[in-house]
Amino acid sequence: ARRPVIAGNWKLNPKTIAEASQLLKLLHANFVNHRTPAQLDVEVVVFPPFPFLLEALLVLQGSGIKVGAQNVALQTSGAYTGEVSASMVRSIGVDYVMLGHSERRAIFGESDVDINKKLHLCLAEPGLGVILCVGETEDEYESKLLASVCDVQIRKGLKGVSINDISRIIIAYEPVWAIGTGKVATPEQAQVAHTVIRKTLADVYGYQAADSVRIQYGGSVNPENVDSLMSMPDVDGALVGGASLTADSFTRIVDGS
Ligand code: 13P
Repeated sequence: ARRPVIAGNWKLNPKTIAEASQLLKLLHANFVNHRTPAQLDVEVVVFPPFPFLLEALLVLQGSGIKVGAQNVALQTSGAYTGEVSASMVRSIGVDYVMLGHSERRAIFGESDVDINKKLHLCLAEPGLGVILCVGETEDEYESKLLASVCDVQIRKGLKGVSINDISRIIIAYEPVWAIGTGKVATPEQAQVAHTVIRKTLADVYGYQAADSVRIQYGGSVNPENVDSLMSMPDVDGALVGGASLTADSFTRIVDGS
């Protein structure tokens, strides 16, 4: 059985460390006080912006909530002003890096080749895991290109990744048309996409390895729709944007799962 994983992608929020700290303290209180054994069986990760990572690691100690970074540099060190490397985030205690988010692809022009290069830099850091995001646009969905788009993004994103490292990778299926739109995929749509993704993984790594990889759904997940999504056999978690920005809704999403 795959352990469910719920992650909160804060994106470019909140505006100040004071607000971030407040959200983290509320999350810590919720998770320390109200966990049942079933809920402890869910892996929970938050992805704050870089300047709040250390605060998140400090405040969330003892809560069981892990901390991830939303991006890393294409390089390991040197003259790359403004960049943050995989070794830097791993050295402070970050457990995951998110790669290939559709906002990185569309707004910042990241290619599958870039994403693959970053993924290998993350895998070079012992203990660091990766959430690799894939998903089709609305046009692609309507042109029935969901399967081919996800297949290519998975194959190119994971190029050169050995079967031994596949356990360090979580896939997030995020249809671009569902991100921040309130237009959540139906549980059946998510299940179809996750099956497609697992089939690609099976082609590359074999059935057994593919069966162990966790595939999250992301795109307008909220406390009301998370249960039906998670009831699908191949939906192993959620990647939550907007609804991860208040402790109440994020906690309810974890509780519901
Ligand atoms: P929303 O939950 O705000 O739609 O964002 C989804 C997302 O992009 C998570 O990475």
